[in-house]
Amino acid sequence: MGKVIIRKITTLKETIGSCLDELGFKPKYREIILKPNVLSYLKSGSGFITDVKVVRALIQALLERYEIDRIFVAESSYINADTKKSFAAAGYYALEKLSPKVTLVDLKDAEYEDGNFNVRIPKILKDKTLIDMPVLKGHPQTGLTCALKNLKGLLHDSDKRNIHKWGLEEHLPLLANFKVELVIVDATTVRETFGKPFPRKFSFNRIIAGFDPAEVDKAACLLTGIDVDTIKYLKTVLEGKNEETELIGFSGPLAKWKPVVRLLKIGKYGINITSSCSRCWDNCLEAIRPGHIKRETSIINDVLTVLNSFLLPENVNLIVGSHKELIGAQDGKVVLCGDCAVNKLGIKNAIEVRGCPPTAEAIRKALKEKHTDRKS
Ligand code: SF4
Repeated sequence: MGKVIIRKITTLKETIGSCLDELGFKPKYREIILKPNVLSYLKSGSGFITDVKVVRALIQALLERYEIDRIFVAESSYINADTKKSFAAAGYYALEKLSPKVTLVDLKDAEYEDGNFNVRIPKILKDKTLIDMPVLKGHPQTGLTCALKNLKGLLHDSDKRNIHKWGLEEHLPLLANFKVELVIVDATTVRETFGKPFPRKFSFNRIIAGFDPAEVDKAACLLTGIDVDTIKYLKTVLEGKNEETELIGFSGPLAKWKPVVRLLKIGKYGINITSSCSRCWDNCLEAIRPGHIKRETSIINDVLTVLNSFLLPENVNLIVGSHKELIGAQDGKVVLCGDCAVNKLGIKNAIEVRGCPPTAEAIRKALKEKHTDRKS
């Protein structure tokens, strides 16, 4: 029987160490890959990325317990984002000073080879123990981004795009094919809805540990009060499993999250995010509220953005992704943002901003353009 442990933190090193011991974890290889979530230029402790403190504590616990030759901390940030800048913003370069055995790896520079599940996989994974280290977050489209979805950061940017083009929720189960030996979730500081302008922040002060990413995600749902059946990709993966899992340390939810948002509203602006990549709608948000990507906006600026939007003559709909339900569902000005929306939705008289993803500057320019009355 598998196990998932939810543990309140005493000290990070002690808590993570006790999880390794209780799970009876034994790495298969002497070389380890840690895959945290460092998706963009965000700070540790923000609840948006895996806190460097959690990674540091795991490295220390691993080096104390096992004979390990090398530890690679590997990530590929958002499509078109610079992973090295993400590592720097989150304070990850300090990890290399812990031990000469620790190296940061920007997977955007890595070599990839054909995997056996429709996507290419980084060659560096071969003959190494893969440890998945997500941060626990809600996600506006899929509901949850935790252990399974964090593995998307192992993909080449072209396959990250493909997963969105093929259909995000239907294709995330592909990620269950990665051979993960251990999952350690940063559930210290967490966010209800990643990507929303004002996502609620919680201090859970927990570590979740287990062997199976899907079972760990199920525990994350219980902790956040999310109905696991509403997380489509997770439900698909769990339906294919027979083994029972023992859940240790769960004494009730710490919150009641409602993370899914199909339409982000900011005054008279609406961003339709159904089935798009986060990078695409993040750039829409950056166009409307500069500083969004680095989380450097202020409440005063946000209030001004909303108030100024009410001076607009009509609603402004930014559409990203290619979901057909978006056709004709808007009133006012329509801006198709990104190649998916431009090529697949073809809404007449909409303003088009090409790019994959389109830049925030190009979207901002389009927001200032006038449009003729839409006929359909
Ligand atoms: S256009 Fe946007 S939604 Fe489409 S693949 Fe590119 S980044 Fe993703």
